[in-house]
Amino acid sequence: MDLLISVLALVVCGLAGLTCASDSIAWCYHDPSCGPDAWPTIVSPQFCCGSRQSPINIVTDAATEDSSLTSFSFSNFHDNSALTKISNTGHAVKVALENVAVSGGGLSGGYQALQFHLHWGNGAAVPGSEHTVDGRRYPMEMHIVTMKESHHGDLEQALKDPQGLAALGFFIEVDDDSLPAAPGCWSTLATYLKRITNEGVSADITAKISLDDLLVGVDLTRYYRYMGSLTTPACDEAVVWTVFKDTIKVSKDVIDLFSTTVRIGGASSLLMTDTYRNIQPDQRVYSTVDARLRQGRPAPPETAVASTLA
Ligand SMILES: [Zn+2]
Repeated sequence: MDLLISVLALVVCGLAGLTCASDSIAWCYHDPSCGPDAWPTIVSPQFCCGSRQSPINIVTDAATEDSSLTSFSFSNFHDNSALTKISNTGHAVKVALENVAVSGGGLSGGYQALQFHLHWGNGAAVPGSEHTVDGRRYPMEMHIVTMKESHHGDLEQALKDPQGLAALGFFIEVDDDSLPAAPGCWSTLATYLKRITNEGVSADITAKISLDDLLVGVDLTRYYRYMGSLTTPACDEAVVWTVFKDTIKVSKDVIDLFSTTVRIGGASSLLMTDTYRNIQPDQRVYSTVDARLRQGRPAPPETAVASTLA
């Protein structure tokens, strides 16, 4: 009986969650009445206080090394026409991606990229990444969102699959040694912000920027892995998270543009600041085996992360 009730609750709340996945629900970051602490009440109690919520604090010493976390295959990350459109959603700045995919990396199949978006604080001095590492919050975080190819673009189906989405997270921090407007690709991307200052506005990206350009300096073979959720309502627990260990270094003036240019609504609305969800309870975190740190230490035990995640 308990099982039946649980199943019915899952079905009902699952449908509610899908409804809530639209931007029609008035959730926000900035006001206690609609901010992250209120999401379970106003949006989705089923998921926003579930058992595998994101983001989390990654405790590096507690991460289990796993040799099945192999290198990724990145498709068209070098393509400088893959970034097609940049939008102000009222909650984030989102960039649509075309013909970009990822596989390998311990994922259970191929995943097609949908978009990337950014989270930030209030200027470079007030950090706003979603994940933290050993308690440290970085100035910004970039999320590349991908969907398992077997769902053929059906988001409703993907959100019902515990591994329906795969998100790639990258920390962005200040490059103290750089000149202003560096690196050039990030500076170019930020020039579009003044064209999308208001909620609901989009601009076509005509500049030649690739994902490889934006991910400059990141060793893509070094990452953490855990099973989590969307970090925005309805917080669906359908996301395989990959958080890369290396950071993207960007000049302070470029980071500052995000929290000083785009707004959460119309021209008289608040600037978009502190766009991150609070840290959620710990999850089991796995790590790639870092050959650079492994010299002289015994090999890690084999851990079948694929079966653990199934
Ligand atoms: Zn995100």
